Amino acid sequence: MDRSIKKVIIVGQGISGTFLSWFCYQAGLDFIVIDEPRSHTPSKVAAGIINPVTGRRVVKVWLDDLILPFAAASYDAVGNFLSVNGITRTSIIDFFPNPFMKESFLKKLAQKEDYISLLENEGPYPSFFNYEFGIGVIEPAYIVHLQLLLPAWRAFLKKEHKLMEEPLNFPELKAEEQRIRYKDVTAGTLIFCDGAAGAGNPYFATLPFALNKGEALILEIPGLPPDHLYKKSMLLAPMAEPGFFWAGTNYIWDFENENPTESFRQSAEQTLKQWLKMPFRTVDHKAAVRPATVERRPFAGFHPVHTNIGILNGMGTKGCSLAPYFAHQLVAHLLHRQPLLPEADIARFSRILHRNSP
Ligand SMILES: Cc1cc2nc3c(=O)[nH]c(=O)nc-3n(C[C@H](O)[C@H](O)[C@H](O)COP(=O)(O)OP(=O)(O)OC[C@H]3O[C@@H](n4cnc5c(N)ncnc54)[C@H](O)[C@@H]3O)c2cc1C
Repeated sequence: MDRSIKKVIIVGQGISGTFLSWFCYQAGLDFIVIDEPRSHTPSKVAAGIINPVTGRRVVKVWLDDLILPFAAASYDAVGNFLSVNGITRTSIIDFFPNPFMKESFLKKLAQKEDYISLLENEGPYPSFFNYEFGIGVIEPAYIVHLQLLLPAWRAFLKKEHKLMEEPLNFPELKAEEQRIRYKDVTAGTLIFCDGAAGAGNPYFATLPFALNKGEALILEIPGLPPDHLYKKSMLLAPMAEPGFFWAGTNYIWDFENENPTESFRQSAEQTLKQWLKMPFRTVDHKAAVRPATVERRPFAGFHPVHTNIGILNGMGTKGCSLAPYFAHQLVAHLLHRQPLLPEADIARFSRILHRNSP
């Protein structure tokens, strides 16, 4: 068999493409990543937070006991390989924004929900924050250091001649039954990890994407301890650079472009002024479009007609925790035909993909 047939082309080097290429590398598969360098992708704008509980009703995230330990171990492994700190285990100091949220939290606590507790000793927080309804703690939570990991993996790919820094030009992609050709590359498989661009991808545009835009401010807050995440109606996450914090976010489904908005900046700064007792300075304002889906479940698997073209996408608001697990599943599926988790497998959309196949 032609060796090139075993090669995998991966389109995109956000969190999804990074982990897909990492697990291909670990499995000894030949691969190449094609990524258009863009500064405002969600993987570059995200805080990198992994919160084990979600929503107003403080429920555990989907598949928490499977996905969270897998993510933590995967970031440690990539981080060690690249000699960067991939992930930090921490806790979220959760200032209840109103009595209803406190009540929800206490109700879950009475049911002995995992990950949550009440902060008994308020420690230094009264001198840093304004709050009236008490403090909960969520633990363990994680901060993934995407600003360190993604460029380090990119540099490795470059060094290994496994990166094409350009947009994939669809007219040059020749998908034949036995092989894929793109420019001078011949491969057996191509997998799209193209984030929000997937909603316009000729192979996968009919999947039920529900893109939403999110924004964040980068703040300088001298003196605020960087050893926790802080949450009230927004989240403050310490960044790798001492004294700097990420603050966000919002969820906008109806948007005209991916630019930051003045209205977010004003309302976030207003909220921060009421919450923080210490001065802060906004040093940057970012926005990006999340590849979210109607069912809030990822898209993984292969096209029912073009069976050598696959996808790893739909990570929504939780790319940091979901991408490692589903990238690993997809590589095991590719190599050993191991079944994908049905809730993520795009086989569930087989009919619609068949009908609209290019
Ligand atoms: C403000 C904000 C805050 C967030 N915070 C968190 C958080 O704290 N924790 C968390 O888990 N998640 C968070 N998210 C969500 C998270 O960022 C996403 O789930 C995740 O980044 C999606 O990663 P991805 O690799 O699938 O897509 P992307 O990050 O969009 O990566 C896709 C890549 O493909 C490239 N590409 C696309 N089309 C092509 C093409 N045709 N040719 C070549 N290259 C192409 C793009 O340039 C990009 O590099 C946040 C998102 C936003 C917007």
